[in-house]
Amino acid sequence: MSHFDEKGTLACACGQSHRLGTRTVLASRGALEESAELLVRTRGRGSRLWVLSDENTEAAAGTLWKSAAGKTRITERVLPGLPKPHPTMALVDLLASEVKAASPELLVSVGGGVISDLVKRLSLDMGLPNWCVATAPSVDAYSSGTSAINVNGFHGSVHARASEVIVCDLDVMEKAPGEMHLAGLGDLLAKFLAFLDWNLSRIVTGESYCELVSRVALESARGALSAARHLGRDPGESARTLTDAALSSGFAMQALGGSRSAATAEHTMAHFWESAHSVRNGRWDLHGILTGVASRMMLHSYRALYARLGDFSLDEMARLRRFDAELPWRESVEGGLAPFMSKVNEEMAGRTFDRGDLACRLEAFRNGQAQIAEVAAGMLDELASAVEILEGIGFPFSLRELALQPRDVLLPFRNMRLLRRRYSTFDLAYDLGLDEELRMSGEGYIEDL
Ligand SMILES: [Zn+2]
Ligand SMILES: [Zn+2]
Repeated sequence: MSHFDEKGTLACACGQSHRLGTRTVLASRGALEESAELLVRTRGRGSRLWVLSDENTEAAAGTLWKSAAGKTRITERVLPGLPKPHPTMALVDLLASEVKAASPELLVSVGGGVISDLVKRLSLDMGLPNWCVATAPSVDAYSSGTSAINVNGFHGSVHARASEVIVCDLDVMEKAPGEMHLAGLGDLLAKFLAFLDWNLSRIVTGESYCELVSRVALESARGALSAARHLGRDPGESARTLTDAALSSGFAMQALGGSRSAATAEHTMAHFWESAHSVRNGRWDLHGILTGVASRMMLHSYRALYARLGDFSLDEMARLRRFDAELPWRESVEGGLAPFMSKVNEEMAGRTFDRGDLACRLEAFRNGQAQIAEVAAGMLDELASAVEILEGIGFPFSLRELALQPRDVLLPFRNMRLLRRRYSTFDLAYDLGLDEELRMSGEGYIEDL
């Protein structure tokens, strides 16, 4: 994101002014020591820090970083390694009281996505800056301005404060467990779908769109692909490429102030599994793995839907008549969604289902149909080859390997539109009256596995 001025602002061609709160990224071998020097240089000796890690990330980098940071006054909190810490608002509040007691000047996370998300949110709540010392290339969230936190039982993206300094020591990244590398790649698969759905929404709903941000996110996914090809042959180079890709995608989100460029239906699905604790095999219960598994399912279903659109001729009057006969969504919610109704209500709040709006979207679809088909074909082809590469290096795509029950997959799949207020291919299927066909493609996918 080299277009930004030194204050981190960019007056973009999309009409928005994008802002980055991150000042420095250290992504090289020896970055741990380098960051300790930067700490002394910018904050002086004897500054008060509060450092969060867990037992695993403490061993991977925490101990080393703290000793390099030497003369600073550190209050530390090391969470247990097992069971893995869950990023909940209750935990954020508990940690906030500990931070208050320590009255630090700076918060530091040493860890993966969960530790970084907790500290970015604490940083916002406490009005204190934070630094991120990443220990694995497993997510693209280190450089984003949001955190994935469980609020009232549902996993989702909340406002946070971006890290001022991000430290990715490639010696540490390279040594991260193989599962973490796969997770990083899995999280990046989502960018092809996000690019497709964002463009779809731009065409059909007129949603605001940033070409620069969406391109940066897409390029990050392409970068990850080349990293995957070399995984194993040159672990150092692959860790570097994957780290770069994850950071770029995160910066795209930070610049945008949201996750539109990085996440669509596959993330809604993954967040559902995280909320419902659906994945019983702890080894693979990692955000990026879940996102990758969901991405392959979306690839299958999106392909089926866009293939159907090839010779689809829209009968607008018939669709609008069906709309008139539909029950309001509230009267047709299926029983299985009961535990998730607070999330559904939050996403549906203020959303109107208006006949006139639907007619406008159908008209926009008709005018943009060729362009939509072109974007979809390109993105789904790229995603298909990315999935193939990941299959070749042992990515755990099968539901059985994750110990994931078909009902935990089909429930969110059927109800995607209620779980996220963000226009996606699922909304298009509904608008065109093809939602039943999309649902059947999901069921077929599960049966084939
Ligand atoms: Zn993600
Ligand atoms: Zn822009």
